[in-house]
Formats: sequence, structure tokens, C-alpha cells
Amino acid sequence: MAVTLFAHEWAVRLGAFSVVFAAMALWELRLPKRTLTFGRRPRWPANLGIVALDSVLVRILFPTAAVGVALFCEARGWGLLPWLGIPHALAALLAVIVLDLAIYLQHALFHHVPMLWRLHRMHHADLDIDVTTGVRFHPIEIVLSMLIKFAVVAAAGAPALAVLIFEVLLNATSMFNHSNVRMPPTVDAVVRRLVVTPDMHRVHHSIIRAETDSNFGFNFPWWDRLFGTYRAQPREGHDAMTIGIDAFRDPTELRLDRMLLQPFRGDGKGASAG
Ligand SMILES: [Zn+2]
Ligand SMILES: [Zn+2]
Repeated sequence: MAVTLFAHEWAVRLGAFSVVFAAMALWELRLPKRTLTFGRRPRWPANLGIVALDSVLVRILFPTAAVGVALFCEARGWGLLPWLGIPHALAALLAVIVLDLAIYLQHALFHHVPMLWRLHRMHHADLDIDVTTGVRFHPIEIVLSMLIKFAVVAAAGAPALAVLIFEVLLNATSMFNHSNVRMPPTVDAVVRRLVVTPDMHRVHHSIIRAETDSNFGFNFPWWDRLFGTYRAQPREGHDAMTIGIDAFRDPTELRLDRMLLQPFRGDGKGASAG
């Protein structure tokens, strides 16, 4: 079964992406959390354009993707988890947790190193936050993340199945926690113990820098609590808060060509280190 799964890896990904995207887009229409300032029309073509561009680029540069790296290492018994002789199921679970920690640390790094912030700030330059913001990343950031992921997968000796599960999960939770959906506060309070919720991640898209530099988690909310970067709610409240960054506030910045050039413009300041 696993072999079939890997052979159709792209179909598994595309299928999961389509289902979660459609579900969140519908939920946003039915029960929106905030009234969007700019709405879908000026933002969605470029946000969806960039995810298409990213997907094609990754396929061309890394045809076997992270799952391929995992299969290669798995066949040779390379990496920490096989070396420790940890049973496969437990190794898979640990690998998902380790990969999530790596993503958290990488995200914090991209905020604090000015050169990396130049790449990542395009994600934050969206002037509204909804399901499409969850897949709006600069192609260079995507390539760098991929290389970091390869290194973590190889060092940990992460089972290929765990890598596939993690990637599908990350894509799904990213769309979930960026979506503009309303959830009763009592439900949010329970869900955010297990997974990052939209209300939790929205704080991260605040224009207030201290809020931007908090809630770095994508899947599990535990790392933010553990490392002291957790912020429960935005200071101005979810309805009144301003989404985006100071550097790019003109609506023309929502165009695909502008987005692609953003890393090479301005002084890169705005990162907490800068
Ligand atoms: Zn960020
Ligand atoms: Zn985000």
C-alpha cells in the first residue's frame, strides 16, 4: 500500500489540498470572522498564482521531493531514529513531531535574520488573511525550506510515510489556520490545545511587530508555549486589528509581479533584528 501511496504522491497532495481548500473557502463564505478590507477579488489570482508557481518549481527542482530523500535514507538505514533502533510506528510519530519543531524554528529564524525576513515578509504583506494566505510564500523561501527539510529528514532518518503525512498535514493546517472562519471561543480554546487555530495565527499577521514575532507554530501550538512566543489574542481585537506589514501597504502590492519582487525592494528592515 505504501508503495502505491508514494507512486501517487502528487495525487494524494493535490487531492488533500483541493478538499481542504474547498472546505475552508466555503466555511469562510458561510461564517466569516472578519469583514475583509480588500476581499478576494484583488488577492486570490496572485495568491493562487504563486502556489501554482511554487508547486511547478518544486517539481522541477526536486522531482522526488522530501519523500524521495526519506526513501533513499530509509533503504540505507541512515539517520538518528533507525540508529537508535526505535520501532517504525513510534519513529514515524517522533519524526512528525521533530519536523514540526524544525518548521517552528525555521519560521522564527526567517523573522529574525533580516535577509531571510526579506523573503518571508511577502507572506506577511497580504493585506487580508484568509485561506489563500496559507499558501502564499515566495518561491525562494519555498526552495530554502525544502533544502532545510531535506537535511532534517536525512539527519532524523524520518520514515517516508511520516514525511508524506507531515507535508499533507502542514498544507492542510496552514490553510485552516489562515482562514477567515468564525469558531465559538469555547471551541477555539479546546482546539488550540492541539492544533494552531485561525484566531491564534491571525495574531501573527498583525501589523504590530511584537505580535508578528509571536505564534510561529503551524501545526502544533506547543512550541510557542514552550519557547515563550505564545500570544493568545491581538491587542486591538480580531475585528479592529490591522493585517499586513508597514513596508507594502499599497493595494498594487497584491499583484503577482510585485509580490515576486518584494524581497529585492526596500531596506529589509522590519525584522526585529533590523
Ligand atoms: Zn511569519
Ligand atoms: Zn501566516
